[in-house]
Amino acid sequence: MPENSKEDQTSDILENEKVEKTESEITEEPSKAKFTFKCTRCDNCCAARGPIPVTFWDLEMWARNGVVANFIPYLDIYHKPDGGIDLVLKPLAPPPEEEKKENSTRDPFATVPIEELLNVKCPVYNKDDEKCLVYENRPLSCRTYPLEYDGKNFIVVDADCPGIGEEGMTKEELAEMRETAKLMHYELTRMRIALPVLNQMISQKIMMDLMRQNMEAMSKMSEEDRAKLDEIFKKSSEEK
Ligand code: SF4
Ligand code: SF4
Repeated sequence: MPENSKEDQTSDILENEKVEKTESEITEEPSKAKFTFKCTRCDNCCAARGPIPVTFWDLEMWARNGVVANFIPYLDIYHKPDGGIDLVLKPLAPPPEEEKKENSTRDPFATVPIEELLNVKCPVYNKDDEKCLVYENRPLSCRTYPLEYDGKNFIVVDADCPGIGEEGMTKEELAEMRETAKLMHYELTRMRIALPVLNQMISQKIMMDLMRQNMEAMSKMSEEDRAKLDEIFKKSSEEK
């Protein structure tokens, strides 16, 4: 068992990072770090992590490995409460419980808002086999969990992760975990800058396509059908 409590470990890594910052990147010595971590493969994070952020790094890796299509059904845009936008792997809505199923008035085809899925299992986690179905292609966010970097400090985002405090982490493993956390921060920033622009461009493109389709459909209508349509529009504007 580790000597330090998890809270101590969390403050240790923050404290350690402050020392590194004053001594500059060149003198970085991970061997002095008190933070230790070894994933115990408990899968707690996969079973309740909610939306997983996806970066360009992940998209490029999936494209390289020819597996993009496997992820497409789960990709979604998450408008976060802080106003930011993330591309995410969206969890699947859990099936309604038996008693709720009978009384449920919810449209079974309606999309469940991401806000209702914040503690739901990752869509590619197989609960029965307790296994990640895409382990070799898992997103960058999973490779650095539970360590993140915010541009200044390293942060432990899940103090309950049983791997924190586990002995046996080498200097090299800690250095690699930190590098991955920094890469994640860089890639997430890149995605967050690009996504609103892409989102706007795609929305505009869809609107233009819809308008073009409508105009084409109108141009193919018979005089009689067009007169009927005019009549419907006229009625609805009079009612308003
Ligand atoms: S990262 Fe932590 S919570 Fe996730 S599987 Fe490993 S030990 Fe468990
Ligand atoms: S992609 Fe794999 S490792 Fe990442 S949260 Fe999902 S199941 Fe876990």
